[in-house]
Amino acid sequence: MHESNIAKKFGGTRPVFSVEFFPPKTEEGARQILRTAAKLKDIRPDYVSITYGAGGSSRERTMDYGLLLRDIFDFVVMPHLTCVGHSKAEIAQIMKRYASEGLTNVMALRGDPPKNQPDFKPNPDGYTHASQLVSFIRQNYPEFGIGCAGYPEKHPEAATIQQDIENLKRKVDCGADFIVTQLFFDNSHFFEFVEKCRAAGIDKPIIAGLLPALSYKQVVNFKNMCSTDIPSRLLESLERARDDEEAKQIGLDWARAQIDELKANNVDGIHLYILNRAESALKLGRFVR
Ligand SMILES: Cc1cc2nc3c(=O)[nH]c(=O)nc-3n(C[C@H](O)[C@H](O)[C@H](O)COP(=O)(O)OP(=O)(O)OC[C@H]3O[C@@H](n4cnc5c(N)ncnc54)[C@H](O)[C@@H]3O)c2cc1C
Repeated sequence: MHESNIAKKFGGTRPVFSVEFFPPKTEEGARQILRTAAKLKDIRPDYVSITYGAGGSSRERTMDYGLLLRDIFDFVVMPHLTCVGHSKAEIAQIMKRYASEGLTNVMALRGDPPKNQPDFKPNPDGYTHASQLVSFIRQNYPEFGIGCAGYPEKHPEAATIQQDIENLKRKVDCGADFIVTQLFFDNSHFFEFVEKCRAAGIDKPIIAGLLPALSYKQVVNFKNMCSTDIPSRLLESLERARDDEEAKQIGLDWARAQIDELKANNVDGIHLYILNRAESALKLGRFVR
């Protein structure tokens, strides 16, 4: 039986390797996630995570697909959970369901405001910060593995990186076991972030989040959405790519170089944002190990 608490997987001779899925919305999307999961079974990520939607029915699908990924493919699964729109009582209900289904890891997040709302407004009976969600989970489910989000290039709402790291420390002090970072394309941001976290007394594992780029358009979107710095060498190569295949290869080569350097610097873990596609994980997974 493999270790199911993600918090206990760190400290080995290689980085913890994980991939992220999102719950599909269409029938073709449903077929794709199952095809991808089947292909990834052989490379055995240490865990897989599944995101939590901004609202509506996709939220139910986090649980549904989380269970499918565990029961059919035998993955250790970490469903995400956000505070957006939920009262504390609803969060308590969802956590009860996760626990009763034997899902014993959770990625605890605040979540983003809905697209038509510029600022995050908590549910009047809900949580304002992810640290409060972490605290609730730790107090009521002491045996759970709890992940939380970190931002090497600062969360967009935070005034300074230092303040953001203080808020990250709050999540760790409230009981988070490990940190998964926002995607980044320049490792120097990650290395500086880890140094600042350690200086601030954050001693939990920090998993590097990498997105193997697919196209120029995609990385520009991410730059706008997450304020991620895109090194000009990557941006220019993607812009010059003659077709999708060449762009994909550029993205894979870039991510591979990031992985090599992260490993050489003893990174705790590498998390691939695979967008429900198998190719990047199949091509890069063996370099993580
Ligand atoms: C690895 C990863 C996975 C993600 N998965 C999802 C997902 O599945 N679904 C989804 O909707 N979104 C997801 N997100 C996006 C995330 O929900 C957003 O980035 C959101 O805006 C912040 O969430 P958080 O958990 O980091 O919030 P928080 O930790 O609450 O931080 C949000 C902001 O508030 C500040 N802050 C925190 N605590 C305090 C405090 N006590 N006082 C003042 N300011 C404070 C922080 O500095 C930061 O600027 C993910 C992000 C990452 C990095």
